[in-house]
Amino acid sequence: MEDKLSFEYAPAPESRAVVSIKPKYGHFIGGKFVAGTKHFPTINPATEETLSAIALGSKSDVDAAVKSARKAYVTTWSKMSGKERGKYLFRIARIMQERAREFAVLETLDNGKPIRESRDVDVPLAAAHFFYHAGWADKLEFAGLGTSTKPHGVAGQIIPWNFPLLMLAWKVAPALAAGNTVVLKPAETTSLTALLFAEVCQQAELPAGVVNIVTGDGSTGALIVNHPGIDKIAFTGSTEVGKIIARAVAPTKKSITLELGGKAANIVFEDAAIDEAVEEIVNGIFFNQGHVCCAGSRLLLQENVAEEVLSKLKTRMAKIRVGDPMDKNTDLGAINSHEQLLKIRELSAAGDLEGAERWSAPCELPGKGFWFAPTIFTGVTQSHRIAREEIFGPVLSVLTFRTPQEGIDKANNTPFGLSAGIWSEKGSKVLWASQQLRAGVIWANTFNKFDPTSPFGGYKESGWGREGGRHGLSAYLKGVSHE
Ligand code: ADP
Repeated sequence: MEDKLSFEYAPAPESRAVVSIKPKYGHFIGGKFVAGTKHFPTINPATEETLSAIALGSKSDVDAAVKSARKAYVTTWSKMSGKERGKYLFRIARIMQERAREFAVLETLDNGKPIRESRDVDVPLAAAHFFYHAGWADKLEFAGLGTSTKPHGVAGQIIPWNFPLLMLAWKVAPALAAGNTVVLKPAETTSLTALLFAEVCQQAELPAGVVNIVTGDGSTGALIVNHPGIDKIAFTGSTEVGKIIARAVAPTKKSITLELGGKAANIVFEDAAIDEAVEEIVNGIFFNQGHVCCAGSRLLLQENVAEEVLSKLKTRMAKIRVGDPMDKNTDLGAINSHEQLLKIRELSAAGDLEGAERWSAPCELPGKGFWFAPTIFTGVTQSHRIAREEIFGPVLSVLTFRTPQEGIDKANNTPFGLSAGIWSEKGSKVLWASQQLRAGVIWANTFNKFDPTSPFGGYKESGWGREGGRHGLSAYLKGVSHE
């Protein structure tokens, strides 16, 4: 029998007619869009087309947003019952579902991720976060966090560009459910879905000032972090910026949660179901172009199965469809920015120089936009930069081990500790390994599974605190008892 079975995919582009992008945006303060002063372009990373001009938040913009959040907190939101707050959250969740297509298309245009992922993962999960937290709003005293908890007041929230709408939901939903008001800053390359979310707040008739969105870059973020009117800071982003924020907040009374980088080990033991493992190794590192803080970017293979896994992995990688993110068949979209592409190239070049062996899936990359082929490095050792530093791109570093203990020791040999994956058919080995691993989230025989009910967060340089679930709620309350 011929084994040249091949599938040709006809183009299946999603229509962009469902979104209308304004040529220029301002900030969302006090329930209204207000004009910005300076602007910078936001582009589609798959085509380099300018989509719109985004306002660069200044000191007076941040001041106005904090003032409006404080006023809403004092006059409205802190006085409202949990039941009433919950109704707004339910309403927001439903509108997000109704406008899901619009959100998905806009996210893909602004971020470069495949429409299949924004449509099936980012947007439904973002709505799920609002539904989940809507349910908590009137049940906070039953969350096991004590009966006399209180909101912090005004939360300053700074989010990254890899899951723009989803990270907004992770931040805004628990903050509002717990009774805080917020000033949120999206990342400079991906502000559009946050600005669409501002429209949803208007549509839901959320009281003015409960959610304020100030766009801008790191300088705007720093203005939020250092503003004396902010009671709590929640940040997701790089470890480098996380450290700057931790230092800035240390001498103040502000409460803080940080969700930072990762270098997750995905450990395949000799008794693993290899075909299933290969599928999820691909998902673990190539989902969202590898722009995932919990990506399984270090593959640890037990030596006696390494050859088989690598051969199957290369066969599978050769089938990854790279290209137009708006095509419903695309698996791997564009790298979010030119700056990020340069970082990925630089670290990959360091891998070559240090003696690891590079293999990239054969694929044609589009001429315009920012692209990087799915790549693996074999022969990686623990001291290599590509084994220690977060690449945040579609690049997998492969290491091997002989005994289970050696596998665990190598997995834990990292400054990070956000997530890990274990592949074994033996429940006892899975439990043993999960107890040894120093990572906040551990997946067994799967990878990159997210749910609003499940806490997410890291150890060591991966950050402080948890988001999601009961644990995540506690970050937005003070007077929490952990008994
Ligand atoms: P990445 O390296 O993945 O782009 P960053 O940590 O630089 O991630 O960015 C994450 C978010 O933090 C973005 O919204 C960015 O604008 C913001 N940011 C960058 N620098 C600072 C800073 N010094 N203070 C506060 N926020 C910042």
